[in-house]
Amino acid sequence: MMRGSVAVSDLTWVEYQESIARQAVVVLPVGALEQHGLHLPMGTDSFIVEAIGRRVAQRIGGLVLPTVTYGARSLPRSGGGDQFPGTTNLDGTTLMALIRDIVREQARHNVNRLVVLAGHAENDPFVVEGAELGRRDAGAISPEILVVGWWHVVPEAALAPIFPEGFPGWDLEHAARIETAMMLALAPGSVRTEALADIDHIVAPPYVRFPTPRGVVPSQGSLSDPRGPSGEIPEPAHALIELIVTNLANLISETFDLESHAQEIG
Ligand code: ZN
Ligand code: MN
Repeated sequence: MMRGSVAVSDLTWVEYQESIARQAVVVLPVGALEQHGLHLPMGTDSFIVEAIGRRVAQRIGGLVLPTVTYGARSLPRSGGGDQFPGTTNLDGTTLMALIRDIVREQARHNVNRLVVLAGHAENDPFVVEGAELGRRDAGAISPEILVVGWWHVVPEAALAPIFPEGFPGWDLEHAARIETAMMLALAPGSVRTEALADIDHIVAPPYVRFPTPRGVVPSQGSLSDPRGPSGEIPEPAHALIELIVTNLANLISETFDLESHAQEIG
């Protein structure tokens, strides 16, 4: 608990009320509890989106809500699927209802600019739907809402230094090189670098089967090689994280026509 923090959970109700009165943008990070290979913790999506959300809030003089740390159903092509122990899925309807309630409650307190920051690809449709239903529930208060994933603001050119051999695409970036490099920057002690090794090169089919059959994704849980192009531990992605925070702050400022996002607090 820190005074001067941008985290809503660190504030008193009076401090929150004062921030909302000056029209602070409120950021809601949404993550997951999902297997992330042999070397990353299962809270990786939540940890990354929370770290980015906090930095963005600092950059724009906004606030960040407590992270939603459970997410929608992990799918073979984007998260490895549900057959890994620990992956804990919310039903889509549960996540939708949760986002809807949080948006409506923030609107009830006169939050008029809300960013739903996504950190887990499978959440997208439910988060989009929940945000819009929550906005409708808010009636006349009707906040403006931006729903965005941190990977949406990464231009492919920025990935060239990380993928000198060519970027394989976001679908295969589960527990792979980007998340590994980001966690090495944000929480180096959490990465089990000794567990980095060859993975089975299997790409899941585009259709979905339940229960998820064995053998459709790499047994290690990473969807592509988390190591660098020569099998090395990737460089910590400090520059990429800085770029994401800057691009998100700019996008939010443009979207909500913020007069100045130069002020830094926290
Ligand atoms: Zn992830
Ligand atoms: Mn995920």
